[in-house]
Amino acid sequence: MSDTNTVTECKVCGFTYCADLAEDCRQHNRKHRAAVSAQVALAGVGPCPLPLSYRQREELKRERHLVKWSHFARSLEAMNYDLKRHPSWGEYQRTYPKNGSSYAVALDDPRKALQ
Ligand SMILES: [Zn+2]
Repeated sequence: MSDTNTVTECKVCGFTYCADLAEDCRQHNRKHRAAVSAQVALAGVGPCPLPLSYRQREELKRERHLVKWSHFARSLEAMNYDLKRHPSWGEYQRTYPKNGSSYAVALDDPRKALQ
């Protein structure tokens, strides 16, 4: 392996990868396409556009009223931006997990936690 490999964080989808590695690029391309599709589908929904990087989500949590949106963004990312499986923003807000353990379940499968 070359020492020239550098890690890059995509400014659009937040994926961190090594652009010199073909498999990393394939993984990034898959995630990037899904993230951009979700971004288009959710345009105008919520307090700011998605996707959000880890750093952006953590910054949102400084504002109490944005914590739920940050968690929604993380939950959606964990499900590879699959808007058919993930609850809508409205449903997510109505059934928002109240504690950390519920949130962990929500990350695994948000629909389980929301039933
Ligand atoms: Zn990307």
